[in-house]
Amino acid sequence: MPTPQPHPALPARPVALPTLVGHRGRHAMPPFTVHTAASFAEARRLMTLRRARPLAGGLDLLNGLKTGAGPADIVMLERVAGAATIAIADGDLLLGPMVTHDGFATSPAARARVPALAAVWSEIANLRIRAQGTIAGNLLAGMPAYEAAVLLAAVDASLDSLAPDGTSARFPVAALGTPTGAARPFDHLVTAIRVPCTPLRLAYDRSLRPALSVAVALTTRLRRTVSIVVGGLHPRPIVRRAHVSDLDAPGDLAARLLADLPLATVPFAGSPFYRERMAAVLAARLLAELAR
Ligand SMILES: Cc1cc2nc3c(=O)[nH]c(=O)nc-3n(C[C@H](O)[C@H](O)[C@H](O)COP(=O)(O)OP(=O)(O)OC[C@H]3O[C@@H](n4cnc5c(N)ncnc54)[C@H](O)[C@@H]3O)c2cc1C
Repeated sequence: MPTPQPHPALPARPVALPTLVGHRGRHAMPPFTVHTAASFAEARRLMTLRRARPLAGGLDLLNGLKTGAGPADIVMLERVAGAATIAIADGDLLLGPMVTHDGFATSPAARARVPALAAVWSEIANLRIRAQGTIAGNLLAGMPAYEAAVLLAAVDASLDSLAPDGTSARFPVAALGTPTGAARPFDHLVTAIRVPCTPLRLAYDRSLRPALSVAVALTTRLRRTVSIVVGGLHPRPIVRRAHVSDLDAPGDLAARLLADLPLATVPFAGSPFYRERMAAVLAARLLAELAR
């Protein structure tokens, strides 16, 4: 059988592939080396010495490779001891960086300790993605429309990590990527996500995703704090917190907390200011739901 020849009018291989999802293919992947780490310390060393990127479920990292971009070295976290465990420590639920969306949403510990968050998490993505994609990967992929940052910031979660020099660090999810947050958070290896087991009420609206999603949380004991988190408008979610003694006027509260919402920087095909206006509308509705 003759070997198929490329059509003479077409180059044998595109020089630069367009970045459209439908045009991505494995043939655009640059060569890369896969390392397997058995411990967080080993993974950290490979990240520092070889500039390796950590791979969790691989959905975003491998998709990125298909655009022709690096990295040249990848370190798999799959075999790191304890990376997929969910544990309880110091009143927090600790999620290892290999905990998937589904693993969290269906975990008995999560359902018992943070039931509102576990319930909302079962709505994220489809079953295939929930089984493969991790919470840490969702958070660290840096995609504005992804939901982990919105929900974890709303419940005041924080990250345990190893900095490039190997030292341990902890910082709030809400500080990821902000000027006051860790200097270069994506250089850290996240070793656990800490979710406080504080009793709280949580309401979430993802009906306008990927353009906008809004989460509202209310801590119900001692310090009554309300949090409004707006995702989708900026590279990282916008977080507003206030001390609340009265939720009788949720519309006023939402308007007050979101009065200085920065104009959206993530491109959107709809009318200008629509998302900014809708953020306050959805937040007011969610606050009213929590106040009932
Ligand atoms: C069809 C489809 C539907 C989807 N629907 C939704 C949806 O409805 N809502 C939503 O929010 N998301 C959705 N997603 C996104 C999905 O949730 C993410 O792609 C997934 O969670 C990423 O996790 P991962 O483990 O595959 O990440 P990976 O691809 O393994 O990693 C992503 C990034 O995080 C970095 N990283 C991973 N682990 C660590 C670590 N421990 N420390 C430091 N950096 C790390 C990697 O180096 C990489 O840069 C969807 C995706 C697809 C393909």
